[in-house]
Amino acid sequence: MAVALITGASQGIGECIAKRLAKDGWDIAINYYPTDSDKLKAENVAAACGECGVKAAIFPADVSDFEQCAELVKAVKDEFGSIDALVNNAGITKDTLLTLMTEEQYDSVIAVNQKSVFNMMKPTIKIMMKQKHGAVVNMASVAGLYGNPGQFNYSASKAAIIGMTMSAAKEVGARNIRVNAVAPGLIKTPMTDKLTDEQKNKIFEQIALKRFGEVEEIASVVAFLLSDAASYITGQTIEISGGLSM
Ligand code: NAD
Repeated sequence: MAVALITGASQGIGECIAKRLAKDGWDIAINYYPTDSDKLKAENVAAACGECGVKAAIFPADVSDFEQCAELVKAVKDEFGSIDALVNNAGITKDTLLTLMTEEQYDSVIAVNQKSVFNMMKPTIKIMMKQKHGAVVNMASVAGLYGNPGQFNYSASKAAIIGMTMSAAKEVGARNIRVNAVAPGLIKTPMTDKLTDEQKNKIFEQIALKRFGEVEEIASVVAFLLSDAASYITGQTIEISGGLSM
């Protein structure tokens, strides 16, 4: 059975990706941020994945920490025997205007959203190179493609992920490893619950489909990109935004 490791999979988009991949027959390694409440949520996600008849296990790690990521990847490989897919989903926002943004707000968003992709990909790609196959999906955002007021730090992290995705795809394509990204627009999750009505209404006006996205609509594209149906797609960033950018 192929094994998928998903970071930040205790809630939101990551939870939905874990459940969708379990339905598709993947064994699931669920990373969660090491708190009691996240552990409980991760256990529930694992139980739901297990109901699909696949193996599912949970692994704590702060993905902004280089050493913890190395230990996480080793633990998943020891437990499951392989890592065939990696979804770098974990992310945070610390939104405020550039002139008000603190150094901590900038550095922490870069560490969790961007450096985590390096922390996770370095050890995982080594395993995939030995296996001679693998697929990675990184979670970018429309903020990384077009920018967004109040998200100087977040846009920086997500734009970087798009570049990292293309560089890695070029480095490891000859090893039969594909690396892609998705760039969601406004999706209904605990992350976007924090937006004010004014912010939501402003984004809503720009969406061609005139509705916010559902987590399942991200998970289905991630599942496609990890599957053999996408065997000739690498280095791409797929926007999933209901036509926000047109
Ligand atoms: P969410 O806040 O519901 O979930 C984020 C998950 O990441 C949580 O489980 C959280 O515990 C985990 N996490 C945070 N910091 C972590 C760390 N240091 N180590 C390990 N795990 C950590 O958010 P979401 O909306 O589900 O977002 C998931 C991803 O999708 C993020 O990368 C986000 O930037 C991206 N995204 C979301 C939207 C949206 O509209 N919701 C749009 C574009 C991109």
